[in-house]
Amino acid sequence: MIDVEDLIALVRNYNPRTNDALIRRAYAYGRQMHEGQFRHSGEPYFTHPVAVAAILTEQRLDDATIVTALLHDTIEDTKSTYTEVARLFGEEIAELVDGVTKLTNLELTSTQSKQAENFRKLFMAMSKDLRVILVKLADRLHNMRTIKSMKPEKQAQKARETMDIFAPLAGRMGMQWMREELEDLGFRVLNPEARNSIIRRFITLQRETGDVVHKISADILLETERAGIEADVYGRAKKPYSVWRKMQEKDLAFSRLSDIYGFRVICGSEADCYRILGVIHQRWRAVPGRFKDYISQPKSNGYRSIHTTVSGRDGKRVEVQIRTRQMHEVAEAGVAAHWSYREGVRVQNPFAVDPAKWISGLTERLDEDDHDEFMENVKLEMYTDQVFCFTPKGDVIQLPRGATPLDYAYAIHTRIGNSCVSAKIDGIRVPLWTRLKNGQSVEIITAEGQRPQASWIDIVTTGRAKAAIRRSLREEDRGRFVKLGQELARAAFDHVGRKATDKALRTAAKMLGLSDETELLAQLGSAELTARRVVETLYPELARSTAPEVDAQRPVVGLPADQSFRRAQCCQPVPGERIVGITYRGQGVVIHAIDCRALEEFEEQPARWVDLHWHAGRHAAKHTITLDLTISNDAGVLGRICTLIGEQKANISDLRFTDRKPDYYRLLADVDLRDVEHLHMVMTALEAETDVAQIARHRDMTRKP
Ligand code: MN
Repeated sequence: MIDVEDLIALVRNYNPRTNDALIRRAYAYGRQMHEGQFRHSGEPYFTHPVAVAAILTEQRLDDATIVTALLHDTIEDTKSTYTEVARLFGEEIAELVDGVTKLTNLELTSTQSKQAENFRKLFMAMSKDLRVILVKLADRLHNMRTIKSMKPEKQAQKARETMDIFAPLAGRMGMQWMREELEDLGFRVLNPEARNSIIRRFITLQRETGDVVHKISADILLETERAGIEADVYGRAKKPYSVWRKMQEKDLAFSRLSDIYGFRVICGSEADCYRILGVIHQRWRAVPGRFKDYISQPKSNGYRSIHTTVSGRDGKRVEVQIRTRQMHEVAEAGVAAHWSYREGVRVQNPFAVDPAKWISGLTERLDEDDHDEFMENVKLEMYTDQVFCFTPKGDVIQLPRGATPLDYAYAIHTRIGNSCVSAKIDGIRVPLWTRLKNGQSVEIITAEGQRPQASWIDIVTTGRAKAAIRRSLREEDRGRFVKLGQELARAAFDHVGRKATDKALRTAAKMLGLSDETELLAQLGSAELTARRVVETLYPELARSTAPEVDAQRPVVGLPADQSFRRAQCCQPVPGERIVGITYRGQGVVIHAIDCRALEEFEEQPARWVDLHWHAGRHAAKHTITLDLTISNDAGVLGRICTLIGEQKANISDLRFTDRKPDYYRLLADVDLRDVEHLHMVMTALEAETDVAQIARHRDMTRKP
C-alpha cells in the first residue's frame, strides 16, 4: 500500500502548495474507518481508496479530489456519516464524497444494459460536480485492474457494466487513455480468447516484419529533425479491443486490417503542427479522404489535433496525429485538465475546456444566458428537461421535468398509477403533487379499490398518465351507467312480461349494431338509448300492442266487437287478475274475478260463461276499485292520503265516510287504477303511512254485479 508520505510526494510533484495536513488527516481517517475491512484479494480495504487517489494524482488533480478519493467509500461502507465528513473536512469534500456514494449505490442496484444510456445521463445529471465522476471513474478503473479476485459471474457483470457505462463515460469526459484502459480490462474478462488471439497476431507480425513501430517512429523523427522542427514521436499498436471492434464492424480478418498502428507527433506550436504535416505528406503518400484538421475546427469537447493516414513502405497504412503539448494534454485528460495543477498552480492551458463549455458541447442546446451561470457553478444540469428517479429496486425512471409521483407511478405501470394513494420520496411521505428532482428515490403506496380522481389530470404532466387517468374515469362512469341500464332494462322487460336475460340483451345489442350487452346497458344508463327502443327491437309484436295504450273501451280479449260489457261491482276485477265473463240477458257480459263468490249461482249454467282475458298491453288508469281505509282523526291526514294516492298517478273518483270516531275515521275511496300492479303500488304507499291504521280492498257481495 502506498503510504501517506508517498501519496503526498505524488501530489507535491505537480502541486508543491498542496495542503499535506489535509491529505494526512483524510488518510488517517479513511484508514481508521476501514479498519478490519478487507478486499476480495485479502488486502486491507483501505489499499483501494489509496490506489484510487494515486490514479487521480496521475491526472494531477486538486486536493479536494484526492481527499475525496481517500474517503470515497466511508459514507457507504463504514459508520462514517455525511455530517462527520463535513465537520472534519468541510462541505465541499462532504458533497463530493456524498456524490460518489450516490453513484456507487446506483451501480450496485442495477445493471440492465438497456438502461446504459439512461445511466450515463443520470451519472452526469446527478453529479453536481464533475470531479465526482472523475473519482468514480478512477474507482472503477482500480476495481477493474484488480477484478481477478472476484467471482467469475461478478467479474462478467462488472466488465459488462464497464463496457456499457464507464468506458463510454470516460470517452465523453474526453479521457481517451481511461476509456482505452477500461475497454481493455473489460474485454479481457468478456472475451479473453479474442483478445489473446489479437495479441498473438501482433507478436507474429512483429516477428515477420520487425519492430515496425520503432522503425516508423524513427523515420518520422528523422524527417522532422531534417526540417529543423523539435518534436516527440510516439507510436503504438492499436489496443486489442479497438482492433477487434474494427474487425467486427468491417467484417475483416486481422491480416486484412490496415492502420493497426497509430503515431503521435507532439510539438511546440500550432505552426509546427502544419509544418510537420507537410513533411510527412512529402515523405509518404497521403490516403485520400483521411485527412482531418481538428485544429482549425476543434471538436466540441475541446479536442484539437491534425489526423492523417499515410501509406508506409510496404503499402500498409498508418494513422498519424499531430498536435501541440497543450492540445495533447487536453486530448488525454479531457475535462480533468480544468482541475490540473502544475508547479503549484492551476494549469493555464488555453485549450483546456471549461467544464461548462464541455457540457454545453455535449448537449448543444443551451443558449448563451444559461451558459454563464454554468461557468460559475460548474454544475451538470445538462438534461434540464428531464429528471431521473429511482425505484426502490434501483431502476432508473426517466421523466420530464415537472413530473410528480403520479407520473412516476404511471410510468411504472398503469395499475400502480390507478391504485396510487400516496408516495414517499427518499423515505418521506409527500403530497402527490410534489415535483420530483434528480436522483430521488420514489416509492408509491397503493391500495386496493383506489380509483383515479378527476383532479389528478391537473397534477400529472406526462401524456401517458393523463391518458390512463381519463380512461379510468370513463370506465368508472360507464360502470355506473351499466348499473342504471340494468335497472331500466329490468323494468321495461317486466312490463311486457319478459325477462331481461343476458341472452335477450345480447341479441338486442347485436340487432342494434352495438358491440355487446354491456355497451347496450351503458347506453341505456346514459340515456343514449331508450328502454322502449330495446323492447321494440326484440319484440316488435309486443311493442305494437304496448305502443298505444289499450283501448279503454275494449280492455278484454274474447268478446265480439259489438258485444257490450262491464266490470262486476261485487269483485271489481282489474287487469292482471284472472277473469271470466257471465252473460246476462239484455245486459251483455259482466266481467268477474275468477274467485268472485257471485259466480257460485252460475255453476249450473255453463252456457252463460265466456272465456276472457285482459289485453296484454298497457291499460289506462280507468279501472275503479274501492278501498276500505281506517285513518287517524288528525288534521291534514285525509289530505295527505289523497296526495299519496295522487303521487301514484291514481285518481280518487269518490270518497265516503262509513264511520267517524273521535280517534279515527273509516272511509271508502273509489280509486281509478291501471292494473293489479298499480293497485299494489297504491296500497303499499298507503300502508307505509303511519296515520293509516288499516287498508283493504273493499268487496261487497251485497252489491249488484
Ligand atoms: Mn470504491
